[in-house]
Amino acid sequence: MFKVGLDFGHGGTDPGATGARGLKEKDVNLAVGKVLAELLKYNDLQTVVTRSTDVYVSLLKRVEMLNKAKVDLVVSLHVNAAESPKADYVATFVYARGGKAEQAARAVQQALVSATRWRGPASPDGVLVKNLYLLRETKAPAILVEMGFITNPQQEQQLREASFQRLLAVAIAKGILNYFGLTFREPGIEPGEQERRIRILVDGSEVIPDVPPTLVQGRVMVPLRTVAEALGAQVEWDATNRTVLIISPGKGQIMTGALLLSNSSHRRKRSSVMGRVGPCYPPSLFHDNKLS
Ligand SMILES: [Zn+2]
Repeated sequence: MFKVGLDFGHGGTDPGATGARGLKEKDVNLAVGKVLAELLKYNDLQTVVTRSTDVYVSLLKRVEMLNKAKVDLVVSLHVNAAESPKADYVATFVYARGGKAEQAARAVQQALVSATRWRGPASPDGVLVKNLYLLRETKAPAILVEMGFITNPQQEQQLREASFQRLLAVAIAKGILNYFGLTFREPGIEPGEQERRIRILVDGSEVIPDVPPTLVQGRVMVPLRTVAEALGAQVEWDATNRTVLIISPGKGQIMTGALLLSNSSHRRKRSSVMGRVGPCYPPSLFHDNKLS
């Protein structure tokens, strides 16, 4: 049985980077990490975590724990920050190329790009080399994932959502399983059902919703948020009026400066939703012209 060392960056008195709207990196790292640990356990991998609550743990201590546990792979979770609010890529770091860490990094990076639809950095495979203490001092192959930029307003908003945190965790878990030559199984889906599961492809890229699509009386029910966000739209829930608000790309001005949906790299035209089984009804995103 493989053992994975999970390191959730920062914690306690060390918040890591902070977004313009106050989201703290340490909280994202922990939230994604907790789901990731559960997913790996469900897939019969052993896990060791360097922290499981909001506490400060020194890098020295983290490395000590990971080395003592004799893990097969180290995965460290972080969120990037930059002076420019435009920085928006997802990247996976290794200490050096040519080893097992690079293979793991590629698998995780590929799964992340496909799930988030965020772009990678200026590197052919999205893998970057950096001399980082944790990557250098751990004995097992080690990778460090920077899950987008907390300083990018749109990504900060996404990173805040539990559904998006789960999407990140599922992607990273898939990458890790892939690295070990194993197939990812999703909790709540029976092994036989796995092949029959309904996939959502937006412009050819698979998007993974927090709740799996279901076939109900000949209709494919697809979580709206997943599809709308993959198309670059913003979804808000107005609990008072029990109303779902969908703001299509370029119409962000109707929101009071909360979100600028100006990131054109996320906009896609002529999108379609394809269900593998039965007819698929487009979500109400396609009626959004009534909103503006
Ligand atoms: Zn960090």
